[in-house]
Amino acid sequence: MDDIALNDPGAGKPIGQYAVFGHPIAHSRSPYIHAQFAKQLSIPMAYRRIDATPEAFATALVAFAAAGGAGANVTLPLKGQAAQLVAVLGREAERAGVVNTLTRLPDGTWRGDLTDGLGLVADITERLRLDLRGRRMLLVGAGGAAQAVLGALVDAGVDHVVIVNRTPERADALADRLGEPSRISTIYWQDLAESGAYDFVLNATSAGHAGSAPDLPFALVHPRTLVYDMNYGAAASAFLAWAQAAGCKFRYDGAGMLVEQAAEAFRIWHGVRPDTDPVLAALRAEIEAS
Ligand code: NDP
Repeated sequence: MDDIALNDPGAGKPIGQYAVFGHPIAHSRSPYIHAQFAKQLSIPMAYRRIDATPEAFATALVAFAAAGGAGANVTLPLKGQAAQLVAVLGREAERAGVVNTLTRLPDGTWRGDLTDGLGLVADITERLRLDLRGRRMLLVGAGGAAQAVLGALVDAGVDHVVIVNRTPERADALADRLGEPSRISTIYWQDLAESGAYDFVLNATSAGHAGSAPDLPFALVHPRTLVYDMNYGAAASAFLAWAQAAGCKFRYDGAGMLVEQAAEAFRIWHGVRPDTDPVLAALRAEIEAS
């Protein structure tokens, strides 16, 4: 997988410089996805990975800007810090307090946006054509990913969100942040089995990276429950196997979300939204092959 995507416009014309910052970053699929978008729309751009620790991030961003950086994605563990470094925050980013998309403004400062939630909602409602409205939802996890998508899910019309997290204080903090007690509540893990079945269960934990799934009772789902894992590839296997064993028909991993959030960042930078279907198909083939 190339780190840099180039559609050289020729005649010495400048090429827009883009990047993804994170630590670690070698695993990031973003260069591949943006290369596909750029090719599809014949937009000249270079997109590379920049490994930056939290201590080095601010300096690395200044260096990137000095080298002509026009936009960047930001991933773990820098999303909260990115929100502190920008001059302007988009609505989603301000509400969540995290940023995944940076855009250089004409005065040299940065604007921060958050496209994760829009990407998740686009994947479910537009690509999978499933309605989120009125669903009683269980959000499993309260880390950065859960924080990034909760606002967009509430906006998309989810009826009520119950948040459960291994460390309950983080679930409470996330619910408090959104400040909508009639729409969002929390529950202790040990009380889950008594809380009834949900219409939508979203796994926003990182347990899959260790090959495991969060320990959940089958009583949480019914056959038509939408079960979605924000992880993808091998990291989603254990949770989706749990959903299958529980008899759920609608089971999806987060590859679609990954492509849709990238498409939204691409739209912010270039003013045009790519066709995501062929890119998702190509990404799945890449994931299979790796
Ligand atoms: P964080 O490290 O911020 O949070 C991890 C979360 O997982 C916490 O809620 C943590 O609980 C929980 N957790 C970890 N292990 C277990 C376990 N064994 N059982 C139960 N809960 C567990 O990570 P992020 O929130 O940033 O990311 C979560 C996942 O989402 C990642 O795997 C990431 O790859 C994926 N993701 C996918 C995206 C996409 O576009 N598809 C976008 C962003 C993220 P506790 O608080 O108790 O530690």
